[in-house]
Amino acid sequence: MKRIFNVLALSALVLLIVIVVRALLHTPKITDQVETIDYALDEGRMLAHLSESIRFQTISHQGSLALNTDDFDNFQVWVRQTYSQLDQALELNMFNGTMLYKWAGTDSALKPILVTGHYDVVPIIPGTEDLWQQPPFSGVISDGFVWGRGALDDKSGVIGILEAVSYLMAEGYQPKRTIYLSFGHDEEIGGAKGAALVADYLEANGVQLDWSLDEGSFLLDGFLPGVDKLVATVNVAEKGSTTLQIVGKGVGGHSSMPPNKNAVGFLAAAITKLEKDPMPGGLDGLSLALFDTTSREMPFRLKLLFANRWLFSGLIEATLAKDPATNAMLRTTTAPTMLSASVKTNVLPIEAIATVNFRVHPRDSVLSIFDHVSKVVANDNVEVRPMKWDGFGLGQPASQVSSWESKGYKNIEDSVKNIYGDVIVAPGLMVAASDSRHYGRVADDAYRFNPFPLTKAQLTGFHGTNERIGTDDFVRGVKVYIRLLELGSSQ
Ligand SMILES: [Zn+2]
Repeated sequence: MKRIFNVLALSALVLLIVIVVRALLHTPKITDQVETIDYALDEGRMLAHLSESIRFQTISHQGSLALNTDDFDNFQVWVRQTYSQLDQALELNMFNGTMLYKWAGTDSALKPILVTGHYDVVPIIPGTEDLWQQPPFSGVISDGFVWGRGALDDKSGVIGILEAVSYLMAEGYQPKRTIYLSFGHDEEIGGAKGAALVADYLEANGVQLDWSLDEGSFLLDGFLPGVDKLVATVNVAEKGSTTLQIVGKGVGGHSSMPPNKNAVGFLAAAITKLEKDPMPGGLDGLSLALFDTTSREMPFRLKLLFANRWLFSGLIEATLAKDPATNAMLRTTTAPTMLSASVKTNVLPIEAIATVNFRVHPRDSVLSIFDHVSKVVANDNVEVRPMKWDGFGLGQPASQVSSWESKGYKNIEDSVKNIYGDVIVAPGLMVAASDSRHYGRVADDAYRFNPFPLTKAQLTGFHGTNERIGTDDFVRGVKVYIRLLELGSSQ
């Protein structure tokens, strides 16, 4: 008996030692030390340009009826005048309001690169104007921020790229690799008349890009537990979207003599089942790469878990699944959004319908989601119907997953570290959509990242109120664009 106890105690001790040693070895990977560099820029002028750009009310409204075309036209004129050296030296092609510049490289054998952003913005929700500390289209610079709609999404991207290229041209820089710059006018409503046409044009001209860089994630400040450093998540893929209708079916009739369960009850049971049995997910692929990289910087108690996924993967995934933000990285998400049933208080419904939106993880397909949902909920009283009228046919699949070991990714990583110094760079998954859904088909790798820091407090600015970017943050981001254009086009 004592012997068995000793064996058990010894095994437990060995296990503990293995767990602790693995955690101790779970340290940041020694990448080549990247030097920090700096550029002398006219910061006041750059910030003034960003501020001016925000004053154009280039608002994309759903349905595009209320398009304020004057402000779009005026913005384009302003770009061409403000960056006149760039405008005169580079070839410009227009795709409706989307501007595509080409800076020809000296070596036409090299595949070009594309840096892109969009200058359309979402509207201000009526009635929320007063919640803004500065008027949303003022572009006011105060308290260390440039304020206004588009400050983050995505005029800082557009102006950042323009400033970077202007700086390089003024310095006499000549790229070896051709650089395309595109500035979208309809990203917020799908990019069908802008980025999609640019991609068609490049395709028709036999242009396959080495890589593209579009808006995406930021240098996240304080988003990950126990990580003090800025985390630059370079999104290497974006989720798709599909919508299904779950239909509970009944016989109808007068509400005075209802059956025990009618269409609404069947639907409610189906939705409950679906909540309990979401699309399977887990920590693999790029989500694993993200957490493997960042967990090396986390406190010891978290390192214990991530260094021993062979033992704790269940616990880790269950914990990540509790937070909507991390859950969205693990799996296709399920969101019932609309409900309808009977048209009258005393009429039993023949059909009760829930509309459910799914954001498609790269491991799943629109079809595999339909199959899963059907298996979970379908029976004699419940039917699953694809929703064909949401603008995407049966749905939009997730994008391809771009490499995080390519030269382009390394260029982005190095340029971020060159400017920001000791920060973490890791691949990420974009849970929203971007124009890269179009550029992905003409690029070997499509990356989605804005080189600006972002705090949780700024997050509500996206499509919300008090959108703003730190003035120092904008300047640093421009420097990343400069460095990236140098690295990306010099070889
Ligand atoms: Zn955007």
